[in-house]
Amino acid sequence: MITLRSFVCGKWVEGAGEGATLLNPATEVPLATANSNGVDFQAALAHARTVGGPALRELSFGERAQLVGALYTTLHAHRDELIAPAIANGGNTRSDAKFDIDGAWGTLAYYAQLGESLGSAKELVEGESLQLSRSARFHGGHILTPRHGVAVHINAFNFPAWGFAEKAACALLAGMPIVVKPATATALLAYRIMELVVESKLLPDGALSFIAGQTGDLLSRLEGQDVLAFTGSSSTGAELRSGRAVIECSVRVNVEADSLNAAVLCADAERGSPAYELFLTDVVRDMTQKAGQKCTAIRRVLVPTVLAEAVQEDLAERLSAVKVGDPARDEVTMGPLATAQQLADVRAGIAHLRTDTESVFGDGGAVSAIGVPTGRGFFVGPVLLRAHDPATASTVHAHEVFGPVATLLPYDGTPRSAVALLARSGGMLVSSIYGDARETLVELARGLAPYCGRIFLGSSKLVGQASPPGTVLPQLIHGGPGRAGGGQELGGLQGLHLYLQRTALQADKPLLDQLTGRG
Ligand code: NAP
Repeated sequence: MITLRSFVCGKWVEGAGEGATLLNPATEVPLATANSNGVDFQAALAHARTVGGPALRELSFGERAQLVGALYTTLHAHRDELIAPAIANGGNTRSDAKFDIDGAWGTLAYYAQLGESLGSAKELVEGESLQLSRSARFHGGHILTPRHGVAVHINAFNFPAWGFAEKAACALLAGMPIVVKPATATALLAYRIMELVVESKLLPDGALSFIAGQTGDLLSRLEGQDVLAFTGSSSTGAELRSGRAVIECSVRVNVEADSLNAAVLCADAERGSPAYELFLTDVVRDMTQKAGQKCTAIRRVLVPTVLAEAVQEDLAERLSAVKVGDPARDEVTMGPLATAQQLADVRAGIAHLRTDTESVFGDGGAVSAIGVPTGRGFFVGPVLLRAHDPATASTVHAHEVFGPVATLLPYDGTPRSAVALLARSGGMLVSSIYGDARETLVELARGLAPYCGRIFLGSSKLVGQASPPGTVLPQLIHGGPGRAGGGQELGGLQGLHLYLQRTALQADKPLLDQLTGRG
């Protein structure tokens, strides 16, 4: 068994005492322990703020982009090696593992290129300067400079690589040192990534810290220049947001939480049409990729009542081809849930949804897993439910079951009804809409926009041309309103804004031009 250590103040530190045990979720074999007891978080934060921060701020955006690019090159060279811990500890199939790892390195590569285009600048200037009075001399504008604190990154269990990369790329490029805290249960992959980053010696001393295990008193020691970026459940997000130090010091917080994402089939999408087929493919992929443990996965499936029987039949046929079992085996297409707690939560979640639905596929998730002794592992099969009455089915619009579970919601086919139903969940990361009637697509997109961080319009023109709606792209923002956390990550340069302070400047025009590099 491996003992995961934390990396603070430029050194690997082993926690005191026993710690949590990380398992293989298919076989329940223990793989590692993680424990941060005794780690000096005060010293860790001070080292990051006083050593890592100044070293990063000394560099220009272009130079920091080179660091991010070098991280990409180093980690990409270990791609195949990193797939093994994702399978063993994350319950990922090989394809799931590649999704996480390739998404991660793709994000690093994107930000390396974007940062290069900023060249020798050390701060960002927003827009043109504005004349502020009748006098042509008095001008104003905004600059963005790196915050002088530390960025604490708390990640969810489902994307140990991508979760790290999307936050790290933006913070490091912006010039802030990072403290990376992965979810403990699946931390093996994140740990190996940290070992590679530390061994590479690419980052300046203090630019990277890593916590294996709990955060101890770290969050109570955050200060006004620090940033807390969290991904996980909305309940943990709410708890962290209400921390004393966070409130008293106005620590900047970003929360990416859970979401009842939706797919909407439009009334014009006839059975067998390209848009209809795209819809089926996306729903099945989202239900089964990473065993449905994806924050962007489709949970609510809106289908026009006239198409409900056809969709139910077609989804059931495709789901029956899913092979659940030990993800280390080639023939398996869906692995287990990540932890025993996840299994308990998903089973309880299915039972909860059943108060408003009937089960149309999957027998409540009971499954005989391939390559695993009966009763071993945290397995649940794909489950398709159908709401008795979508308008009154309150559980379906309120409870995220973080597993291979989705609910069919027949509706009358009008955009107005679809929007009214979907708005009930209080905010989504992403919705996808399938059809070819432009007027309908536009009306739905406009109606859903206030409730969604991202909208994917799946017309037949996109078949074979687009990444699926569940894939987060660094060019576009990731995050959603309301229960989705109200946060925003990525989105090109906007992703850096969390780590930069925007300051308004008022001065005579030549002085302002000099300050903003326009003089
Ligand atoms: P979680 O239980 O909220 O945990 C998330 C992270 O927070 C873990 O690293 C966890 O560490 C840490 N944590 C928990 N309590 C904490 C505390 N009191 N202080 C400091 N850190 C704390 O969520 P999860 O079960 O890992 O992830 C699943 C959820 O995340 C789902 O609801 C999913 O929708 C959501 N998610 C959202 C996104 C998005 O981008 N919006 C992406 C992925 C997942 P330990 O593991 O050590 O407890």
